[in-house]
Amino acid sequence: MQLIHAQIHNVTPAEILPTFTEFAEMLDLEVETSAEGLALQVSGGRIGLTPAGNGLALRLEAESDRRLYLLQQMVLNRLDRMNPVPRLDWERVDAGALPPNLSIATVEAMQRISPNFTRVRLRFPDVARYAEDGLHFRLVLSALPPDQAQGGSVSTWPVIDARGRTRWPEGAAALHRPVYTLRQIDVAAGWMEFDVFLHAGGRVSAWTERARPGDRVGLMGPTTLKRDLPDWVAFLGDETALPAIALYLRNLPAGTRGQAILSCADPADRQALEVPPGIALTWVDGSPGTLLAALKALPLPPADRFVYFAAERADAEEARRWLREDRGLTKSETNVTAFWSRDEDGSED
Ligand SMILES: Cc1cc2nc3c(=O)[nH]c(=O)nc-3n(C[C@H](O)[C@H](O)[C@H](O)COP(=O)(O)OP(=O)(O)OC[C@H]3O[C@@H](n4cnc5c(N)ncnc54)[C@H](O)[C@@H]3O)c2cc1C
Repeated sequence: MQLIHAQIHNVTPAEILPTFTEFAEMLDLEVETSAEGLALQVSGGRIGLTPAGNGLALRLEAESDRRLYLLQQMVLNRLDRMNPVPRLDWERVDAGALPPNLSIATVEAMQRISPNFTRVRLRFPDVARYAEDGLHFRLVLSALPPDQAQGGSVSTWPVIDARGRTRWPEGAAALHRPVYTLRQIDVAAGWMEFDVFLHAGGRVSAWTERARPGDRVGLMGPTTLKRDLPDWVAFLGDETALPAIALYLRNLPAGTRGQAILSCADPADRQALEVPPGIALTWVDGSPGTLLAALKALPLPPADRFVYFAAERADAEEARRWLREDRGLTKSETNVTAFWSRDEDGSED
């Protein structure tokens, strides 16, 4: 267990505790309140706050350095919501070091696997961390638009600042952090692969053209695959969700029943997927509305069901509305995510 303490100054428990209880409610976290203060159980750790001195003593516990650092960032982000933002002093800060949640990876290979997908193989020392239920990660690379970015390596890495926060490079060294999905992994050989769906104007698409073996990019993550799914599942997604759906299908218990529906604008981008025998896999075209129509035509069982939908933002919003409001599925029976947005101008970093 990793542990760090801090003092939060000039603030009363009544001023600070609501920001943490609100947060716990939002994430459905377990909260323990007592005369001594408040404790939150978060994934892989614990946040404890007790009155002390002119404010509160903070105690963070986590199972790894990486999780501890993520908890530190989470607490700082919560405090930022207060006005005025209270001062927080950590007992130690590794100022100038790389954030522990960042892995530096070397490009080993790039391969165009179909007309609109490039498979990227990365090598990095802590690849084993991604093997156990690893799902998504953030790829860290230049934020410059395709016509300005040069080379395939990150020029300046983020570092921990004196306040214990990640300081991201700015200006021409600014970094883009889009989310990607693990596709294949070989821990013994030390590599992991992910698939990039190539689209016009995309900074990652352009990076796959200029990157060369030996170039260095960052990875942050991973998030983990949801297990304990019910016996009936439906997975629907477009090209960007193909890797995530492939990973889910590969990991489903053999007896799972249901449907997988993938849309691809170009039929040549369809991939051979490992699918349990009880799941019917269907490919549909990528024309507007096709994936949503397929969702709305699904015969949903009345209970013991789970529906996953990942695609462009507007489609994801309508899928969520239809599943929750029209069909009455609960939050835990659905996982609906916008994987990309048509309206983004590509400068969100
Ligand atoms: C959880 C999660 C997992 C994901 N996994 C994968 C994955 O494994 N493989 C994968 O290819 N993508 C995946 N995505 C989607 C990917 O993160 C987005 O497509 C992201 O915007 C790509 O960044 P970019 O640098 O290519 O585009 P940017 O440079 O940020 O954007 C440039 C322009 O491209 C547009 N754009 C972005 N995505 C698309 C698209 N798919 N089609 C058409 N236009 C687009 C934007 O609207 C913007 O105008 C995932 C997303 C999420 C949330």
